[in-house]
Amino acid sequence: LSSVVWAYSENEAVSDEVASAAAEVAKAISGEPVVLEVGAERGGTKAPGKKLVVKGPPQDSPPGVVSEALGRVAKEIRPAVVLIGATRNGREVASSLAAKLKVGCLSEVAKLASDGKTVTGERVVYAGKVVAKVSAGLPAVVTVKIGSYPRTTSPPVGSEVKDVGEVDSKLKVLKREKKEAGSVDLKSAKIIVSAGRGVRKKEDLGMIEDLAKAMHGALGCSRPLSSDLGWLPEEHHIGLTGVTVKPDLYLALGISGQLQHTAGMKDSKVVAAVNTDKDAPIFQASDYGIVGDLYQLVPAIRKALASQG
Ligand SMILES: Cc1cc2nc3c(=O)[nH]c(=O)nc-3n(C[C@H](O)[C@H](O)[C@H](O)COP(=O)(O)OP(=O)(O)OC[C@H]3O[C@@H](n4cnc5c(N)ncnc54)[C@H](O)[C@@H]3O)c2cc1C
Repeated sequence: LSSVVWAYSENEAVSDEVASAAAEVAKAISGEPVVLEVGAERGGTKAPGKKLVVKGPPQDSPPGVVSEALGRVAKEIRPAVVLIGATRNGREVASSLAAKLKVGCLSEVAKLASDGKTVTGERVVYAGKVVAKVSAGLPAVVTVKIGSYPRTTSPPVGSEVKDVGEVDSKLKVLKREKKEAGSVDLKSAKIIVSAGRGVRKKEDLGMIEDLAKAMHGALGCSRPLSSDLGWLPEEHHIGLTGVTVKPDLYLALGISGQLQHTAGMKDSKVVAAVNTDKDAPIFQASDYGIVGDLYQLVPAIRKALASQG
């Protein structure tokens, strides 16, 4: 086993974060951090040490191909730790790479450390209620929680190329189409008006969208409205399995406030909620609460805003 610590992400910004994590782990084991690129050199890649370009498959290959390519080089170099950015792609690459190498895999980890025998870190579980300490014996594959490390800014000190040749894939990419830009950008919205199952029918979302517009805010929702009922596109859904938001004001309308929802909005600056049930858990996560019917309150708030011009 070498003392090399790999950092990889298909996303450049995430790669810079993972590179910082690799530098930290490498320092702990007196090893060497190496930033990986698959397919072709990216140009602007940052690395706290060397970079390694894995040639063979194209740059935008599916996760299965990337993990096969990384696996071939890993069998030769035998890195102590492989750190991969926990993007959707990265999670797939990591699990498949760990299986190929028959090593342990830790997911969504921050605060990494190593004593040369194991790699340890912290992982948020139960919708943010608990921080679990996790560890795996070396060698190991770890996905690094996005946003948990600063981006490295140093240019690489050298670069190496490994050609792994062609990688077969059962998945053939025939065509790529750009996903249409989402109609909402909840992550940067200062005000979010969010609708839940308290809304009785799809058409009623109109008045809530109208209120959101009048407040110069964005429209969010709980998961049932997007995933179960399909009333709104997925990008509106806030929570554990949706978007995590931190607006200045989060107005929850007819949302009960289950853990899976509050996990995505609990860091909002001010939370206000309207709910007919005085015992709804959302009130525990709120700075202001109104026990009342959203069908009365939404038009009333809208009217009050209109009268202010
Ligand atoms: C693995 C997993 C992941 C999940 N991830 C997410 C996630 O990311 N995001 C998410 O939101 N959920 C998620 N869920 C679902 C979550 O557990 C809840 O079921 C969901 O958040 C409930 O949505 P809700 O509050 O809109 O509906 P409900 O729980 O049905 O609540 C509706 C609320 O509206 C109130 N109400 C009814 N009528 C009115 C009215 N006229 N005026 C005012 N209030 C009214 C009721 O009192 C009630 O409190 C997940 C579940 C699982 C199992």
